[in-house]
Amino acid sequence: MTPSLVNRLEKRGYRMRVVPVCRLHDLRETIETFADKDLLDAEFYQERLTHFDFHPPSDLKDARSLIIVAYWDPQVRLTFSRKGKKVRVVVPPTYLHWRKKGEEAGRVLADLLAPAGYRVVRAVVPEKLLAVCSGLAQYGKNNIVFVEGMGSFVSLGAFYSDLPSDEDSWRKPVFMDRCSKCRSCITHCPTGAIDPERFLIRAERCITYHNEKPGDVAFPDWLEPSGHNSLIGCMYCQRYCPENVGLVDKFEEGPAFSEEETTMILEGAPASDLSDTLKKKLCDWDLLDLLEYLPRNLSVLLGRNDQ
Ligand code: SF4
Ligand code: SF4
Repeated sequence: MTPSLVNRLEKRGYRMRVVPVCRLHDLRETIETFADKDLLDAEFYQERLTHFDFHPPSDLKDARSLIIVAYWDPQVRLTFSRKGKKVRVVVPPTYLHWRKKGEEAGRVLADLLAPAGYRVVRAVVPEKLLAVCSGLAQYGKNNIVFVEGMGSFVSLGAFYSDLPSDEDSWRKPVFMDRCSKCRSCITHCPTGAIDPERFLIRAERCITYHNEKPGDVAFPDWLEPSGHNSLIGCMYCQRYCPENVGLVDKFEEGPAFSEEETTMILEGAPASDLSDTLKKKLCDWDLLDLLEYLPRNLSVLLGRNDQ
């Protein structure tokens, strides 16, 4: 079943791997080891890595496998209007397509498995780690995952299934071979978050960690405004990675915002005060979920443009 499932999903543009459900234990152990060895900032660990659930859900207690699916997720370019100028701002992969594309991936998988009597349920597990340890992806030195042919322009979805896992491709987390002779992401990271001596980046130095914090949390003083480059997240270490050559210039054109709409967003107007047109525009692109981050993050990008 698994090879034919892989083939059929690949024909639809997805990549996948299946591992036995007992690998949940290894996933949990790996995350805990990172924390025990002080490789993770304590605050980062608490905020980002303690919400996982390493038990099959009650509606699929007899789960036999974990399935990890990767799908193409390009950068999106948004256009804001400020003081008579149009300013283009990038949103990196993983922020804007997760709802539609993630649900679609689950539906496609469920439809392919249903005729054989198997089910799938979404899993809340460390997806990047599962992707790497299952052999679907490899880590870059920047701790971003790369999938062959898609570079780092991917989103991941993890699922429990009662599909038996015939094979087990599990391996320890690894970097891409290319990373052994490359320092591009280390050189281009504006905050020194990528430490060549460590497996994990210094997450507490990463711009992404700071601009994903709730919108009322100010950026730390050491974070130079010139380092910001995306509406949320950060693209520098992906932009300059040789693994992304030929992919990094592909953008999906997102919505354009008028002066009035840009001002409303910058002023932090709540969703209830936005016009139906603006709300729909934001909702269609999964941006409504990011509304609370936008005033702080956008103002630093537009502020630089004003100078
Ligand atoms: S820039 Fe170089 S070192 Fe960094 S992830 Fe890409 S290949 Fe690896
Ligand atoms: S996302 Fe940005 S800040 Fe974080 S490691 Fe990469 S380049 Fe550095």
